[in-house]
Amino acid sequence: MEKLVVSACLLGCNCRYDGKNCHVEGIEKLAENFVLIPVCPEQMGGLSTPRIPAERIGDKVINREGADVTAQYQKGAQMALQIAKINDVKCALFKSKSPSCGKGIIYDGTFTGALKEGNGVTASIFEENGIEVYSDEQICDFIHKSVDKSDL
Ligand code: SF4
Repeated sequence: MEKLVVSACLLGCNCRYDGKNCHVEGIEKLAENFVLIPVCPEQMGGLSTPRIPAERIGDKVINREGADVTAQYQKGAQMALQIAKINDVKCALFKSKSPSCGKGIIYDGTFTGALKEGNGVTASIFEENGIEVYSDEQICDFIHKSVDKSDL
């Protein structure tokens, strides 16, 4: 069975910066077609939960109090990539807008909720390594490709 790396918060893990999750109803259905491999790069990089929110600013990741947490984000991304490679993963389903997992659009570094084009640190590294990244905002497309949506 094909393997799929998934942002752990989408599966209901309370690993977000605020100690909550972003569970997507029906996502468990993917387990019928994939071995699901949950990752939370921010936790894996050594950040606590809950934690101070951070956003990408240029090449760095800075938290709301001005601390540079780029190293933790890069460490978590590399660990997630290592897990993906060990499992020969071709595809990942990541939480949108996150400075780690976001694909295509992320928060713009002003901590106002404004968005900009770009990827989170982990999404960038996955794509650089040839792993196809989908965001949860594409989840219907993704699920449609993998399972019958009417079953959700
Ligand atoms: S790093 Fe990714 S998996 Fe972890 S809480 Fe943020 S969006 Fe979810």
